[in-house]
Amino acid sequence: MSQQIIPKPLGRLIQDFCKLPGIGEKTASRLALNILRRPQAEAKELAAALAQLHNSIQLCSCCFTFSENDPCAICGNPKREASLICVVEQPGDLLAIEKAGNYAGHYHILHGVLSPMDGIGPAEIKVKELEARINSGTIEEVFIATSSTVPGEATASFLIDFLKKKPIRLTRLACGIPMGMDIKYADKHTLARAIEGRSETR
Ligand SMILES: [Zn+2]
Repeated sequence: MSQQIIPKPLGRLIQDFCKLPGIGEKTASRLALNILRRPQAEAKELAAALAQLHNSIQLCSCCFTFSENDPCAICGNPKREASLICVVEQPGDLLAIEKAGNYAGHYHILHGVLSPMDGIGPAEIKVKELEARINSGTIEEVFIATSSTVPGEATASFLIDFLKKKPIRLTRLACGIPMGMDIKYADKHTLARAIEGRSETR
């Protein structure tokens, strides 16, 4: 569809969808047109959900995942092992590990990976918050589950070095996750096996 014949409000929605990861202009147009074809009530519901998002969701002050409540449902659950922390890059990775179904500890979301080229160092991700949790003295094991991508591996190496003097067990996901793969895209059985077989880093 040429730019001139797209009505402005539709064009704006297409541009907004294009800002989302993995959405190109073709998919954005398909989504926008699909919303237009559906009943107006559905579009209103979607708009209301979007408007509500930032008001009703915050970061858990303990693990930094997105949550309606603080602490989140995991940090606030007395049945979870509070002495075990799984370190992941993003909230989506937490969901992937929860889906694998065999992890009962807590989490720590870094909100990124080290990427010196992009100016992202340890101060830009939640490393000092992780250190503070470890220093509180209640943590026995830190299980590093960053992705097996180059920045994910670099972040894991940094954390292993940074935390090696702490009186904790440091473990990593076992192999089985293909090199270069974001853990969000690993199938849940492979991920469950990698969690089960996590190994000491030293
Ligand atoms: Zn939490």
